[in-house]
Amino acid sequence: MNTSENRLVVVSNRLPIVIEEEDGDWRLKPGTGGLVTALAPVLRNRGGIWIGWPGITEEEELDLDRILATSTKDSGYSLKPVLLTSEERDKFYCGFSNEVIWPLFHDLQGYCNFDPNYWAVYERVNRKFANAIARYAGKDDFVWVHDYHLMNVAKELNQMGKTFKTGFFLHIPFPPLDIFLKLPWRFQILHALLEYDLIGFQTLRDRRNFVQCIKALIKGIVIRGKGQVATARFENRDIRFGTFPIGIDFHNFAMDAAKPDVADKAWYIHEDLPKSKLILGVDRLDYTKGIPYKLRAFENALERYPDLHNQVRLIQIVVPSREDIPKYQALKLDIEHLVGEINGKYTQSGWVPVHYLFRSLEKTELLAYYRTAEVAMVTPLKDGMNLVAMEYCASSLEDGILILSEFAGAAAQLQRGALLVNPYDIENMADAIHQAFHMAQNERLLRMRKLRRAIRNRNIFRWVDSFLRAAIAKNLDNFPLLEDYFPEKDMNGIP
Ligand code: UDP
Repeated sequence: MNTSENRLVVVSNRLPIVIEEEDGDWRLKPGTGGLVTALAPVLRNRGGIWIGWPGITEEEELDLDRILATSTKDSGYSLKPVLLTSEERDKFYCGFSNEVIWPLFHDLQGYCNFDPNYWAVYERVNRKFANAIARYAGKDDFVWVHDYHLMNVAKELNQMGKTFKTGFFLHIPFPPLDIFLKLPWRFQILHALLEYDLIGFQTLRDRRNFVQCIKALIKGIVIRGKGQVATARFENRDIRFGTFPIGIDFHNFAMDAAKPDVADKAWYIHEDLPKSKLILGVDRLDYTKGIPYKLRAFENALERYPDLHNQVRLIQIVVPSREDIPKYQALKLDIEHLVGEINGKYTQSGWVPVHYLFRSLEKTELLAYYRTAEVAMVTPLKDGMNLVAMEYCASSLEDGILILSEFAGAAAQLQRGALLVNPYDIENMADAIHQAFHMAQNERLLRMRKLRRAIRNRNIFRWVDSFLRAAIAKNLDNFPLLEDYFPEKDMNGIP
């Protein structure tokens, strides 16, 4: 084990790899997400390890150590697996994480399944992760835990008497008090979060919700500071918390989208769908993404604005996800029913209004869709950030238009360039489609310029840097005041 000091230990539910069977042998594909892109250089420079679940269960007997060692031999950091049993996968991952915390934190308490059996398994799996950290990390390493699956890890480490410095970043929203109160394990979760040394949120709104919850539920807590990073004093400890909006690797998207193979694909997509403007939707199959509302808004636009007939098409890409959870199966049927209904009603010879793809895309193909679509419609009911909105702007035409939900975390930064909509307001979204269709080119160019500037500035490297600085800074004097860091002042564009 490498015991050099001050390494970075990244801990996330999934390891940044995909294990696939190929010709009877197991192969490993490196992860491609923004988190890997941003963290890989830091891990390479400081040295470090990434701990997570490789996506297979303990019952599948694989020579994991060998597979993982070969994959990272040149990366400068190593991957350490935490294996789950199939019961843990069901009750920790599908159950507590995705049937309790995920819907509740996205304000959709009606989707929650508060099965009392899930909690003990959530605690047990968080303990497993803590054990792996205790085994692989050196005492001066910084442990950075990611997301809602692992809120209990610092508590478990502290109970073991481990004194690592720890940080936690919540990639999804934090709900308002009235919704958080529904959680049967509300005290345990808040106390567990307060065992981290630094807690990071995506937006001001998430952070305000968290502060409201701790003030209401935790006796004796004192909040200090008005900066991007502030502190909560509790049981003789100072816990730092702050707002760190995640971003994308802007230049990488812009560069890749300009490559000839992407340009060729983009040309063919549009050539096959001639004489119309393309509206693009790219969403994981998830009820938080508001896909049925978007489809109804498109239908409403066709109904109220006949000038759109034959002139616009909605390309809705739905990326398969969590299909073993019943609510997701029902959502898929709902979407397919709506697509059928709209196309049945409006299709004419040579014009099918909705093009529906249910699969994940290779990066070149995804970039080609981004590049060729005149409009992107990103209308989640609630979203931690939403990277698709940013990726579209980084990759698209110079005069592409972004229709964006007020409730996506990205709205805080993109409100000046996007057409903001309430994703529950079908007529308002239909009007935005019509407005986009008729928008003059100079306005389109101006808006897209603002969007790109915001995305370039708040990129993923800045996110990593500011989180790690907040974790190690001796004091918080050098962090900006909130109004300087968020000159927009309002939260997510809502007055
Ligand atoms: N994406 C992907 N395959 C696809 C379509 C999209 O990997 O076929 C990626 C996309 O590039 C983006 C991510 O999935 O980086 C979706 O992130 P987002 O924040 O928009 O939503 P999430 O799925 O994390 O809720």
